[in-house]
Amino acid sequence: MQTLEQIRAKLHDYPIEVTFPNIAEWQVGNTGVDYVHTFDSGVAGPHAMILALTHGNEVSGAITVDKLLRAGLRPLKGRLTLAFGNVEAYRRFDSSAPDASRFIDEDMNRVWATERLDSSDDSQELRRARALRPIIDSVDFLLDLHSMHEEAPPLMLSGPLEKGIRFATDIGVPEHVIVDAGHANGKRLRDYDAFGDPASPKNALLIETGQHFSIRSKDVALDAASRFLIQTGVVAAADVADFMQRAAPPAQHVFEVTQPVIADTMDFEFTQDFRGLELIARAGTVIARDGDKEIVTPYDDCVIIMPSLRHLGPGVTVMRLARVLNNW
Ligand SMILES: [Zn+2]
Repeated sequence: MQTLEQIRAKLHDYPIEVTFPNIAEWQVGNTGVDYVHTFDSGVAGPHAMILALTHGNEVSGAITVDKLLRAGLRPLKGRLTLAFGNVEAYRRFDSSAPDASRFIDEDMNRVWATERLDSSDDSQELRRARALRPIIDSVDFLLDLHSMHEEAPPLMLSGPLEKGIRFATDIGVPEHVIVDAGHANGKRLRDYDAFGDPASPKNALLIETGQHFSIRSKDVALDAASRFLIQTGVVAAADVADFMQRAAPPAQHVFEVTQPVIADTMDFEFTQDFRGLELIARAGTVIARDGDKEIVTPYDDCVIIMPSLRHLGPGVTVMRLARVLNNW
């Protein structure tokens, strides 16, 4: 049986192309919650929030929020909140073990069921989520900035609802939008409370900007954050123009996740060097082997979403499978 160390030794090592910003100066905000800064325009309008570091090693978000704070960005109407999530995990980042500081006790993007937040359970991430909760409860539009283990095109995760897909296509970037219901092992912030209620006008998106440590991911994060803020109406386009990519964005494609592929064993291997968004034409194509079991595509034109063995273990989702939605 392979160990996780043996599996990781075979994976691509990505260079750390970006500088991790020192965010200590943002600890004392103006909300009573560390690392949360809210600016009120004094004019009626929605409350828009950009959150970085839900995962501690996803630095493109930290660079983005740091830059927007440093630029002194202020809202035109409504309120703007700029915040850092799992700062404790970010502080522990070690370039010799870059995957280790995703979280400390548990994944902070799986704790957002209200029952879990209300429970007596305790973890570093639950304490931080509970501190952020009153702020998030007042947010109308949220963008949660993430990045990926492997180098791959950026993805906007809209959640399962039509309002999320509409929001992602109104923003217009990135090119690929993933419609998905999240994970069985805990609720994401994107799906928290009113964000997951089709009757509520509140809306949230999660962007995966590319590989954690690439320059490109940082550029994608800044561009998407700017376009998100313009779309909410909270920020003037001219105030974020410097952070946006010059080229007009390409037409978007929308994919609906139908199922996860969950590993049963440590002897799990993909049959190709999947990076994500590969389209497998024929149903029944073998895409992975898990011990003695072959994993095949369940339908024609099946799309591979976020394949990674970096956190392999029995019960771990190692890729998801999606259909192309053509009516968006
Ligand atoms: Zn993440």
